[in-house]
Amino acid sequence: MAANHPEKLSTTLADANLQLAIYAGTGRLIDHRKNAIAGDLLPDYEDLRTHANLLKKHTIDNLDYYLEQVEQNVAAHGGKVVFCNDGTEVADFILNLAKQRGAKLIVKSKSMTTEELDLNERLEHHDLEAVETDLGEYIIQLAGVKPYHIVAPALHMTRYDVADIFTDKLGIEREVVPEKQTMIARAVLRQKFLAADIGITGANFVVADSGAVVVVENEGNARLTSSAPKIHIAVAGIEKLIPRAQDLSVFLKLLGRSATGQALTSYTSFLSGPRRQGEVDGPEEFYLILVDNGRTKLLADPDRRQSLYCIRCGACLNHCPVYRKIGGHSYPWVYSGPIGAVITPQFHGVGKDPWLPFASSLCGACAEVCPVKIDIPKLLLDLRADVTAHKKEQGESKMERFAFQVFAWVMRHPRVYALGGRVAAAFGPKGGEWLSSAPWFLNVAPVRGWLSQRDLPPPAAKSFRQIWRER
Ligand code: SF4
Repeated sequence: MAANHPEKLSTTLADANLQLAIYAGTGRLIDHRKNAIAGDLLPDYEDLRTHANLLKKHTIDNLDYYLEQVEQNVAAHGGKVVFCNDGTEVADFILNLAKQRGAKLIVKSKSMTTEELDLNERLEHHDLEAVETDLGEYIIQLAGVKPYHIVAPALHMTRYDVADIFTDKLGIEREVVPEKQTMIARAVLRQKFLAADIGITGANFVVADSGAVVVVENEGNARLTSSAPKIHIAVAGIEKLIPRAQDLSVFLKLLGRSATGQALTSYTSFLSGPRRQGEVDGPEEFYLILVDNGRTKLLADPDRRQSLYCIRCGACLNHCPVYRKIGGHSYPWVYSGPIGAVITPQFHGVGKDPWLPFASSLCGACAEVCPVKIDIPKLLLDLRADVTAHKKEQGESKMERFAFQVFAWVMRHPRVYALGGRVAAAFGPKGGEWLSSAPWFLNVAPVRGWLSQRDLPPPAAKSFRQIWRER
């Protein structure tokens, strides 16, 4: 368990304002998505989901082929593909490049992949200033925290929180009107864009047959990040590949609607290589960094590799009853919600945060809304089995395993189960009261763990079977 997990979880649950902010923020996104796919607006929605799933499956099953193809096509347009195993390699490449070009200031547009790699911290460690330019990301960077949500990084903050952060970090008078706050950030960031030496973006999709990086956004900051500085570096996980430009007609219809309820985001940029002769703007150098960072581990399992289909729309977070209560910072990594619960243990190993696959009610809402049809509940169940096997291997949870063995044996013997019901009923509520106040019983570790979060209701006076027979 992450060291701060129980504490973070408890403070989140106890903070009424935070609960309201999470509930309202995710609720808005749920409504927007619902309206965007309702009725005749997108009649082929289910077909699009199936199509997207098949396209992703095909790409991930043939990833080696498409990685080679994209490398050739980026080179053909004057760019360079750099393959990196992890965050250290990514940071090393950027630091070397910055040193060679004398770069000091980097502007960034939102990229969960660079968050995953702790890139800002690594760059700042070497005296490079890295400034996030997406408004939500800029706010949380000033606040010194990680994104709360895949598409709405500052979802948990109110405008009053933002006012406090701006006053504290920018030294300005307190401003609580969101439009004015936006103008304040815009004025600061505009100067950063003009002075930046390098622009780093993420990529929503990387098109293999053209070598283009596709970035969707609403603020225009990714377009400025990729075109104003002399060097543009796009950092993407290897799973972001899609085979052909025409496949975007499937993914773009699903991504905006699933993420923010928009038919199409305000800006969709196709970035393929440095500025060509005769072009008036664009970078002089272009690099596409394709990162593994644990992804190829998932390729080994034909079932589990579907985790790599994710297009980071955030819909599963918004619809998850667990995420909506515990919020983004209760999860141990930058990826939160159901998809975080699925990919984090696979990237880091189930031994690191064994509670994570259990942070789900298995209600199935995530799978119902996922635009690429990832079977998240099935993956969570598989991971739970992995956690159990891991604990067994480590010799942990003997008591828990023994309890479940007894439970399984009782379930396989209906007469014993019925006898248990009769015995419990014979003791009735008084027996329950006695048991739940008996120190020897309450001090058994699994019982203590169970009761720390749940009640122990007294046994009913009559078992279900008795009532059934009587009626
Ligand atoms: S798992 Fe599906 S719903 Fe969740 S973020 Fe990824 S694509 Fe969206």
